[in-house]
Amino acid sequence: MAAATSNNATAIDLSKATCLPGLIDVHTHITGDPIHTGYAGLGVSIPRFAITGAKNARLTLRAGFTTIRNVGAAGFSDVAVRDGVNAGEIEGPRMLVSGPALGITGGHCDDNLLPFEYHHVSEGVADGPWAARAKVREVIKYGADVIKICASGGVLSKGDLPGTPQYTLEEMQAIADEAHKLGRKVAAHAHGTQSIKDAIRAGIDSIEHSSLIDDEGIALAKQHGTYLVFDIYNDDFILQEGAKAGMLAESIEKEKKIGRLQRENFRKAFQAGAKIAFGTDAGVYPHGDNARQFGKMVEWGMKPLDAIQAATINAADLLGWSEKTGTLEKGHYADLIAVEGNPLTDVKILESVKFVMKGGTVARNDFAK
Ligand SMILES: [Zn+2]
Repeated sequence: MAAATSNNATAIDLSKATCLPGLIDVHTHITGDPIHTGYAGLGVSIPRFAITGAKNARLTLRAGFTTIRNVGAAGFSDVAVRDGVNAGEIEGPRMLVSGPALGITGGHCDDNLLPFEYHHVSEGVADGPWAARAKVREVIKYGADVIKICASGGVLSKGDLPGTPQYTLEEMQAIADEAHKLGRKVAAHAHGTQSIKDAIRAGIDSIEHSSLIDDEGIALAKQHGTYLVFDIYNDDFILQEGAKAGMLAESIEKEKKIGRLQRENFRKAFQAGAKIAFGTDAGVYPHGDNARQFGKMVEWGMKPLDAIQAATINAADLLGWSEKTGTLEKGHYADLIAVEGNPLTDVKILESVKFVMKGGTVARNDFAK
């Protein structure tokens, strides 16, 4: 129900609903879908990725995520989506984007699917401290708000191991220094125990995945104020749907080894008091299902309120946007969502958001139906 008020503002009746600040996902791949993993992704052009991103931006916003941080996209397809949203040409959340992720030759952020004679190298590959610094400058030149790097091996890449280090401490120090000098934060993909510690010591702002973090790593994260991001929903999707989506057999095997450990370490890190932000790796699973991770976070030790704060106050803090969003208060953007029922007693209610407002504009209102 909407009614005009005296000052020409529109009143929206949400008296039967529970209102929350708009949700934030700090780890998405908005221009990718699960079908783009493995060899199928080689047939997709950068402009086509941008179109996929436009589709996913709308799905994400309608699911209640009014802000996202995109960490890794082919070309600068995420820059195009961000700019399209900001120009009002397409619907989507506020976006902080990285463009291509930086990584070593043959590492998780390179593309290792084709043999030598194709001479195929991902745009973000940079070896050595100065090449890495130059790459930071380059991605910023083409629109990156945040720098994404690959500190360790990964699950969905060919020929590497999640637990092994890739960027050295020296390379990461150079990247963090250059990015911070230019006013950007750095997010490091790091599954491996050593890489997590190296990244924290190098001054990286958030550790993505954090799968094999140990007690020393947790203590270091607390000491440095580093945010930890644990994408603990998508394991289920990879194991159930990954093969059908074209993920490599070796990726499914890697996920089997690492998924449960990541969830156990999430619980450990939370109980130890480390700072945790909500990030899901959307794109590995279908966009719009981001809120499915809340249930997992509660299953593995958080109270619903902790999980909600990870996706609001904490996520906004990590993005450097605490003055803009993440809480409902005067002077912030009017980013808010509403659900039926109480998410503090059943966090899964957040999987069916019924009302979404971004910056005062209604993107969805199922209550009006
Ligand atoms: Zn990712």
